[in-house]
Amino acid sequence: MPVNLLDFNQAQLAEYFKNLGEKPFRARQLMRWMHHFGVHDFGQMTDIAKSLREKLALEATITPPAVQLEQVSDDGTRKWLIAAGTGNGVETVFIPEDDRGTLCISSQVGCALECTFCSTGRQGFNRNLSVSEIIGQLWLANQSLRQADGYDMLPAGERIISNVVMMGMGEPLANYDNVVTAMQIMLDDSAYGLSRRRVTLSTSGLVPAMDRLREDCPVALAVSLHAPNDALRDEIVPINKKYPLKELMAACQRYLEKAPRDFVTFEYVMLDGVNDSVEHARQLLQTVRDVPCKFNLIPFNPFPDSGYLTSKTENIRRFRDILMQAGHVVTTRKTRGEDIDAACGQLAGKVQDKTKRSARRIPLEIVV
Ligand code: SAH
Ligand code: SF4
Repeated sequence: MPVNLLDFNQAQLAEYFKNLGEKPFRARQLMRWMHHFGVHDFGQMTDIAKSLREKLALEATITPPAVQLEQVSDDGTRKWLIAAGTGNGVETVFIPEDDRGTLCISSQVGCALECTFCSTGRQGFNRNLSVSEIIGQLWLANQSLRQADGYDMLPAGERIISNVVMMGMGEPLANYDNVVTAMQIMLDDSAYGLSRRRVTLSTSGLVPAMDRLREDCPVALAVSLHAPNDALRDEIVPINKKYPLKELMAACQRYLEKAPRDFVTFEYVMLDGVNDSVEHARQLLQTVRDVPCKFNLIPFNPFPDSGYLTSKTENIRRFRDILMQAGHVVTTRKTRGEDIDAACGQLAGKVQDKTKRSARRIPLEIVV
């Protein structure tokens, strides 16, 4: 089997070249060709000796995953369905804004953590994505956007994708090694050269992995909080039973010692009548009181049989005002790409569930 060079960060590529009896600096050249210029044909790599190009062509490939479907929303949001083998697929979303372009990347086929309001969690889990499947989403989106209307005229050197968020399908910290390697490629100046502030990882709160990330690759951190107390969080974000709020808050404080920004972003999905009362907002202020933070309120995006409703606009405003009056910066996430099911929590892809979650779930019609 030829090795896929998209699976390697620069250090691993240097090791690969060393084993081939080549100079390690070849790694930097190859990173530039693959990631900076998006070239996957060794023949085009003109500053690499022909003999080495021929050798590489025999034993290596540069193979991004295949795109099965590309959709464009009325608001310019784009979504790609990426093949992940044996009937599986994951989704990648590009969100254009005036001052930036954000790519939302998936890390797993499905998710094993079963948050009750999340469409990905509902579908169960199949497997972790490989490094080439993770970084391949950025590679493919770059290629596709360079050819897309409205982007093909950008001045040379202008970045279409200026920010990456690990907020697609899956829990990125549950696929730790592959996600960290892929993020190292995002940050590598020879590859995508994104600053650590422009790469954000969102986690539901895997405390030991947060501590490792702080040492290995401290990018901007978002934490999916969604509830102000353990009783409610145990119910809607079940990983809370393992890593309760007190431990999670302490891990956030530790993370900030190395983080590229001086705050953690707390994401809070607004579920009507579940977590959106005045009392919940006040409790939330107490829970986070020792962590420098910003809030991102996410109006719940419905999906079939979710059993939840989006909070009423006036309740979201009331909740926001309480946090703001306490001196916090609060943003309410605008829903983007709803017409193509690209909004937060709507990413479904195609998951051949191995956990049998879908079978275990009691249909809502029977419950009510
Ligand atoms: N697994 C990671 C990252 C992926 S989810 C995490 O949970 O943080 C990205 C964000 O969308 C998370 O904050 C998640 O809780 C939120 N989300 C999930 N389902 C949602 C829905 N139906 N509506 C709005 N946001 C949702
Ligand atoms: Fe997994 Fe995140 Fe969805 Fe929870 S919200 S099920 S951790 S993808």
